[in-house]
Amino acid sequence: MIPENEPSFRESVDIMFNRAVALMDLPPGLEEKIRVCNATYTVRFGVRLRGKIQTFTGYRSVHSEHMEPVKGGIRYATGVNQDEVEALAALMTYKCALVEAPFGGSKGGLCIDPREYDEHELEQITRRFAYELIKRDMINPAQNVPAPDMGTGEREMAWIADQYKRMNTTDINGVACVTGKPTNGGGIQGRTEATGRGVQYALHAFFRDAEGMKKAGLEGTLDGKRVVVQGLGNVGYHAAKFLSEEDGCVVTAIIERDGALHNEDGLDVEAVHQWITKHGTIKGFPDAQMQEEGAKLLEADCDILIPAALEGVINLGNADRVKAPLIIEAANGPVTAGADEILCRKGKVMIPDMYANAGGVTVSYFEWVKNLSHIRFGRMQRRQEEMRHQLVVDELERLSADSGIGWQLSPNFKEKYLRGAGELELVRSGLDDTMQTAYQSMAHVWHNREDVNDLRTAAYLVSIEKVAASYRAKGL
Ligand code: GLU
Repeated sequence: MIPENEPSFRESVDIMFNRAVALMDLPPGLEEKIRVCNATYTVRFGVRLRGKIQTFTGYRSVHSEHMEPVKGGIRYATGVNQDEVEALAALMTYKCALVEAPFGGSKGGLCIDPREYDEHELEQITRRFAYELIKRDMINPAQNVPAPDMGTGEREMAWIADQYKRMNTTDINGVACVTGKPTNGGGIQGRTEATGRGVQYALHAFFRDAEGMKKAGLEGTLDGKRVVVQGLGNVGYHAAKFLSEEDGCVVTAIIERDGALHNEDGLDVEAVHQWITKHGTIKGFPDAQMQEEGAKLLEADCDILIPAALEGVINLGNADRVKAPLIIEAANGPVTAGADEILCRKGKVMIPDMYANAGGVTVSYFEWVKNLSHIRFGRMQRRQEEMRHQLVVDELERLSADSGIGWQLSPNFKEKYLRGAGELELVRSGLDDTMQTAYQSMAHVWHNREDVNDLRTAAYLVSIEKVAASYRAKGL
């Protein structure tokens, strides 16, 4: 939660936006048109649960319709409010523009603690919320396409898709009304891991940028880098798991809502995740020291800090004490505008949320395209690709035998080379390419404009320019 002496989340996003547009030359009025949130719909609805009617409050905010459909998740949390969904919707606009996902920005939320309800109750609540939004076209494959966010996942998305289909029985594209669905219900492989995977790819892109690394005072590869992660939800869990299991990072601390686990030799992310799933808490986990006041570990000495939980966790109250030279914002808005200024002054490098966590919406885009084309990626090409590779392997083996050289292709190479790409490989390849391209566009501005000193401002400049160009193309 953002401390009271600081601007609200939406104001914080606006301050960062204003800092960037001050460096641009936008026509009068366009700047404001881009900044403001177009509409926020508030709905209060009742559901009969446990013998009485309970009233819930939900929101769907549309920030910018320069492209349609608009896109953004639906969050289930007790702290959901209008200011928050508007800030998150604005971030969706900039995020989609930056990674060239052809959507406007939107976000939704329901004020609820999902842990207080059983599955059947949650289904009733979700279906009723979806009904309210569908009947106003605020869930629609051509207009507004939600996705998972904090407190929601593929289960909720499947209920929403089913609710839409019940209400639009002849819409052949109905399943594209929401993304993040289970793979057996119109989803795409790799969507659940996508945001965490995107964080990993973002770090790969950063570590390849020698100038960026120098600015952060870092050297070498990800191997052995000490990482602190806050939040072991879907995003934090996948990011920490991939970084430790595939890139050799050492996760020295995991901060959760009920404290933090700390071990300088490294924590086993999968084991911690399984512990939380089983016990509902990190408490009692062996092989680590427990720190009751978890947020203190945001200030721990490490190479990379990954806030992957709530907004506003790095604020005027602690920014001065943050030691990590590199912060990658896996959550939306974890650093307040005030903290951002302090950290920039201290020379910290922040990989901004609108880029760092864009992996989710990128794979959502792939899912939406898959749904609209009604065919799985790779279905037409896979066998053909395999046959062409087989031709090359056969020819190489024949040449080698005929010439008497006697070269042997290793079984491992053959196995890898002969296997055509399936959906998961294609999704990861598209995501990696997206993260690399977007990083280069931001880094180009960061390293080449003298008036731009940080990646966030660079990210805003790139994305606002794209949104402005699409308004211009419309003649606005
Ligand atoms: N909720 C995610 C985000 O904040 C995903 C949005 C989407 O896939 O539309 O980016």
